[in-house]
Amino acid sequence: MQQTLKKSISFTGVCLHSGINTNVKVHPAPADTGIKFKRIDLKTSSKENIIDATVNNIVKSQLCTTVQNKFGNKVSTIEHLMSALHGLGIDNALIDIDSDEVPILDGSSKIFVNLIDEAGIKHLKSSRKILKIIRPIILGDKNAFIKALPAQSFSIDYTISYDHSLLNHQKLTLDSFEESIYRDLISNSRTFGFKEDVDMLLEKGLIKGGSLENAILIDEAGVMNDEELRYPDEFVRHKILDFIGDIFLLGKKVEGHFEIYCGGHNLTQEFLKTLLSDHSNWKLINEGPSDIDQRLIKPHTEISAAI
Ligand SMILES: [Zn+2]
Repeated sequence: MQQTLKKSISFTGVCLHSGINTNVKVHPAPADTGIKFKRIDLKTSSKENIIDATVNNIVKSQLCTTVQNKFGNKVSTIEHLMSALHGLGIDNALIDIDSDEVPILDGSSKIFVNLIDEAGIKHLKSSRKILKIIRPIILGDKNAFIKALPAQSFSIDYTISYDHSLLNHQKLTLDSFEESIYRDLISNSRTFGFKEDVDMLLEKGLIKGGSLENAILIDEAGVMNDEELRYPDEFVRHKILDFIGDIFLLGKKVEGHFEIYCGGHNLTQEFLKTLLSDHSNWKLINEGPSDIDQRLIKPHTEISAAI
């Protein structure tokens, strides 16, 4: 069945890119609401203030995920909060926010997870639909790609490769996706960046709120933060955290196996648009044991697109 929060949660913090201090309240919502943001700082009508967290509302942005409604109102850096909601099985929520960016907190989704755990989860009376991948889809090239395959559950095989000794090759496979796996293995991993990029990003007006309190910063010698890495492979864990947040823009849990090599927000967003662009890529099924349709997988036609 679909789920929402038992009661509202709230948090305040600085935003990674704008540097603005922002207040957020996540409220329970009825079945089939999905995840909606409400810009309570805007003086426009309530209709214009609401931004659905959906693939159709994705707009291009750097180093984060941004959704924007048809009235031009947007909210960015939603991925870690979306990841926590997806990871803990919250299908429906209305999120009041008083600026255009979600606070970064400690750079992971652990604080969101703790708040949701404290509030509790409410089971709703409507059944949950799952978006099932029904034929292979590949987006990207040998340098960075996402490959999705039909499967009986949601699983991820993620590899990153950077030109740095600390993270030149990290790989993690999640064979299944349960709340406990998300909570224990993924949610505590922080976002990261390279010192050599900081000046360039600041010139672009990004990471104004970035600090060693909310991101792992890496220089040639290694990690610059006083806090040690929370896991040796914290970097690939965070990439999975981001992917789990971004894929929730489908508005549904997903059945499929995802092999990702050097992914990122923009690649995932393009993948989601490609996936939905052709209805022969997917279908909606009821959550629960496999039905006979799941064995009727179409011939292996692969879709490739350069990015
Ligand atoms: Zn992230």
